Amino acid sequence: RHFLDRIERFDGELNSVVTLTAEQALQAAREADQRIAAGDAGPLTGIPFLHKDIFCTDGVRTSCGSRMLDNFEAPYDATVSEKLKQAGAVMLGKTNMDEFAMGSSNETSFYGPVKNPWDPERVPGGSSGGSAAAVAARLAPLATGTDTGGSIRQPAALCGITGLKPTYGRVSRYGMIAFASSLDQGGPFAGSAADAAVLLQAMSGFDPRDSTSIDRPVDDYTAGLAQDLNGLVIGLPKEFFDEGLDADVRAAIEAAIEEYKLLGATVKDISLPNSSLSVPAYYVVAPAECSSNLSRMDGVRFGHRCDDPKDLDDLYTRSRGEGFGAEVKRRIMIGTYALSAGYYDAYYLKAQQVRRLIRDDFVKAFEDVDVIMGPTAPTTAFKLGEKSDDPVTMYLSDIYTIAVNLAGLPGMSVPAGLVNGLPVGLQLIGNYFEEGRLLNVAHRYQ
Ligand code: GLN
Repeated sequence: RHFLDRIERFDGELNSVVTLTAEQALQAAREADQRIAAGDAGPLTGIPFLHKDIFCTDGVRTSCGSRMLDNFEAPYDATVSEKLKQAGAVMLGKTNMDEFAMGSSNETSFYGPVKNPWDPERVPGGSSGGSAAAVAARLAPLATGTDTGGSIRQPAALCGITGLKPTYGRVSRYGMIAFASSLDQGGPFAGSAADAAVLLQAMSGFDPRDSTSIDRPVDDYTAGLAQDLNGLVIGLPKEFFDEGLDADVRAAIEAAIEEYKLLGATVKDISLPNSSLSVPAYYVVAPAECSSNLSRMDGVRFGHRCDDPKDLDDLYTRSRGEGFGAEVKRRIMIGTYALSAGYYDAYYLKAQQVRRLIRDDFVKAFEDVDVIMGPTAPTTAFKLGEKSDDPVTMYLSDIYTIAVNLAGLPGMSVPAGLVNGLPVGLQLIGNYFEEGRLLNVAHRYQ
């Protein structure tokens, strides 16, 4: 009731929640009480959370921020939804997001932009902006997100909270509406690394219903939280401290690195020579995959259908034309072009080759360092409308996060102080399946 009250009081302005499930939440809370009384409770039993509206939820609308799915109620739960239900977590509602997770500012949502709780004239980041803003504004202690090119880490940074993108394959994508299947990964938002560890624990695990899920036991993410950092080797890629980085953000990141030295870590300068290719490679791979994934939205089986179609072509054309927003259409066009006969080798195949080079840079770097650090985003939260007319400038918001998705590595954003009253995020990148180490490194700093 405390969190439902806060949503009632503050979300009119923030716009972080698109569907509130108050009745179901109170019912779930009563059931959690019974489990607690019966001695059958886990760490999440009775804990409220908000769920990104990209995860299918049985009986509750899943809109993915799009007019196309404004009327869509999935007939099943995503694996993550099911796991959180089984853990006894209490879903308060579904959060606003960029349409089909395409965006870095939450401005592409059919439901209007989310405001940054630190300054309502600024964006919360995206695409999981609703989840990040809600946790930052204490509308929920926890929220879920997804990260294809930065959509957990960048909004966590801009809203001053903790967010983690796991290793690709750690969290099931079953029932998580696909944007770019080879990059998408769900993960937690929380007020601290310790809380994020608990949510990640419940979200993770092998799932035979997701063919890219990895069959490997899940580590205990809270067990190693408090380990000391003596001897930790931190790699600082010179490409993450380039001229595109805001000077105040750089100073905040450098101050955080100094703290790590006091905690016993040593620092090593490294290079990820192909990282300048990550944004261009991503903007071939992600649109290509999205053009394929979104072809299922045809006005026939589910989602938006135009009125009075003349024939089948008209049904497809108008349903999709009306259902999708401008950014989604742009991506579908770019992706369809890149995959067309005769262009596949020149674009998609080439981008996949570049992707391998980017991954190899990280593999090499992790031979010498335990964790890589840098800024999560080049600036603090920007103004609403500031970048929405210029897609390329918007795409550069993810310049430090995208390579991590291309490589499939785990990454995290941790609050690293304020610059002119706005939060800065420190990015931590780990080797494959080193989520536990990232959480430990974040926890010792917090
Ligand atoms: N901002 C990036 C994009 O628009 C990443 C989004 C995401 O991670 N879902 O594609």
